Amino acid sequence: MISEIAWADGRCVRFDEVSLSPATHGLSYATSVFDGIRTYGGSIFKCDDHIARLRRSAELFGHTVHYSDADLADACRELVRANDLTDAYIKCLVFYDDTDVSFKAQGSSSKVVLFALPFPSYSAAEHYRLSTATWRRAPASCHPYQAKTSSTYALSYLSHRGRADGYDDVLFLSTADAVCESSGSNVFFVKGDALFTPTAELALDGITRRVVIDELCPRLKLSVTERDIAYDEIGSFDAAFLCGTAIEIMGVSDIDEIRYAKSAVVDAIATEYRRLTNGRSAIR
Ligand code: PMP
Repeated sequence: MISEIAWADGRCVRFDEVSLSPATHGLSYATSVFDGIRTYGGSIFKCDDHIARLRRSAELFGHTVHYSDADLADACRELVRANDLTDAYIKCLVFYDDTDVSFKAQGSSSKVVLFALPFPSYSAAEHYRLSTATWRRAPASCHPYQAKTSSTYALSYLSHRGRADGYDDVLFLSTADAVCESSGSNVFFVKGDALFTPTAELALDGITRRVVIDELCPRLKLSVTERDIAYDEIGSFDAAFLCGTAIEIMGVSDIDEIRYAKSAVVDAIATEYRRLTNGRSAIR
């Protein structure tokens, strides 16, 4: 449930008082960008990385964000405090208002709106079952995958609508049958002590993905390889997991007809990630 207080253009306001014009550019043209940020114990996890990504996404779409990185971090903290939250998910949106309804929209001003949801650090599911999406990921020359933009999520939404009964999420494949990512998280495969994950060409280079690669694998003495992974190959791995800000580390038990056993390696990564996130205790 969305919390009562939002942050809109510089101050905290009641969520239901934030008004949007039907001519908001992003509604018609999917030009809005956003980031999803977690707080644990009131402290923002990987704050700088999320704000840097928001800024990169905004720049790609030509948005001018009139707030410094410190202002945006303060806005997140103010929002969490105003809603009396500790473990929260913050959505930070940047979008054009309604001053130009053409594709050109260059002179339009960008709005920044944040809202929060209480987000306890556990999931009802122990593992996910994935089915391959009927929609394919277009080549990188057809979509800006490194921006966290609303246009990416139209396909996520459509794929969930077409998801087979009994499955929790979808796995996107490229038009060349290579694994990309799920509807809202990155995917890793495990073989022995080695991890494999698709390159971030047709996937978001997720912040959690980077934590796994750069922090958790060295700590756990696991090797990790970023490479193309063909769909035909996925049955040869011992285990699989998803990772992302919202889902954290989530084991995968099935992909279509393929079954994966529970994995001590995935458990170790999940435990280490929890240690990292729960290690933050004060508002920072
Ligand atoms: N891929 C997609 C499509 C996503 O929406 C997300 C969630 N932001 C991720 C991957 C994981 O990214 P992160 O770890 O930065 O949340």
